[in-house]
Formats: sequence, structure tokens, C-alpha cells
Amino acid sequence: MPDESFKNMAIKAAIFDLDATLIDTERIKKDIIDFIVSGFGLNKKQALEVYKNSRKENEKNIFSLESLKKETKKIAKDFSEEKWASFVSDFNQPDKSLLINGVSDILAYLSQEKIPVFVLTLGVKEWQDIKIERSGLKNLLGKDFGNIKYTEEEDARAGKIKEIREILKELGADDCREVLFFNDKPDETLEIMGEFPELRVFVRREKNDKRYSGRDFKKLEKNKNILKVSGDLNLVDDIKKFL
Ligand SMILES: [Mg+2]
Repeated sequence: MPDESFKNMAIKAAIFDLDATLIDTERIKKDIIDFIVSGFGLNKKQALEVYKNSRKENEKNIFSLESLKKETKKIAKDFSEEKWASFVSDFNQPDKSLLINGVSDILAYLSQEKIPVFVLTLGVKEWQDIKIERSGLKNLLGKDFGNIKYTEEEDARAGKIKEIREILKELGADDCREVLFFNDKPDETLEIMGEFPELRVFVRREKNDKRYSGRDFKKLEKNKNILKVSGDLNLVDDIKKFL
């Protein structure tokens, strides 16, 4: 549980990771794999291979619909531009169920309290923007929202640390005790907290991400600056407790 010193603090900002924290990235991945399987007659293993190859180039995350197309073409015997265009068009249809439960409430609350929001993303900007648009997050943030940080770092953790440092500088905040951070990966979260030990952190547990187990999340709960680990973002009451 958070210590008493957290009470009545002025929250200067709320920083959200995008993938698997605000939006259901695992489902987007599943939709892509399913499409490659059903659309081009590949088996699941081949489809996963296509997905993997379209993500990485020299350790850098280069995923976009273009890189996916390139890799699909290499392996699918019956590739056609028409089929691809129809996938892209289907894929771009808005799908609000991609928003993690609670996102809309928490953003409305932060806006009402005039707490600035920042969104951290890693990877190719065009692809990140498609997800932000398609999930309806763009509408919630507002069309003039300018606090999306894009980084194409090879090392995701280093990228996030760099983005957070930039935000703190922008805010003129040398004390990150007054900044809330929302993230999903447990090991990455601990590493970021090693860099910013005073950050107040909420962790979203994505149960479909099989790289992590319950034990990885359990470990986090020992840290007094981790305010909660939960599967959704229904956290308005948790934040209110401390304001
Ligand atoms: Mg994430």
C-alpha cells in the first residue's frame, strides 16, 4: 500500500504506455495472425513467422502494415493486391473494444482534474497512429492532443526512459513523486522505476501475454510506489484516494 506521504499531493501528470496498457495490443496481434491464416492459407506457425519477420530489422521494431505485406508476399502463394486492400480496409474500421476497460473513465477524470496526460509509444509512427485511431483512443484524447511521444529506439526500455525524461523536463518537474505512470510489462516497469524511483506506478496485467506469469506481477506488489496491479484501468477511485 502507498505510504501516507502520497496523500494530498498535486499530481503533475499522468504518463501512459500505449501498447497493452491503453489498448488491447494482444488482440490486434491475434487479428493480424488470424487474417494471414484465413486470407492466405498459411498455418499458424508460418503466420507467426511472418509477423515476427515484419517486426524486426537489426533489433529495431519496424512493424507497419507495409512491412507485414512485404513478409506476407514472400511466403503466401496466393497473395493478391485485392485481398490485401480488403484486409487493410477492414483493419482500419474503428473497433472500440480494443480499448482497455476503464480507459475512457480515467481519461475523462484526468481531464476534469486538469491533469496533463502523456502517451508513450515505441515503433513506427504510422503504425502507432493506426492503433490510436482504430481503438477510438484518438477521439478520447481529442484531435489536438499533442502529448504522444514516439520513439524508434532499438531497446524499448531505453526508449521509454528517454521519453519519460523528456516529459519531466517539459513539465519542469524534477520530482517524479508527483507523476503517475501506467505500464504493463513487469520487468520493464521495474527497470524504469530503477531510473525514476519516485514515480507512482499502476501496472496493468495482460493475461494473454504469456511471456509473464502471475509470479512476475506478485513481485511488483512489494514495491511501495506500485499503487496497484490490475487487469483493467478502472482506477479513478484509486487515484481519488490520494488527491
Ligand atoms: Mg506496453
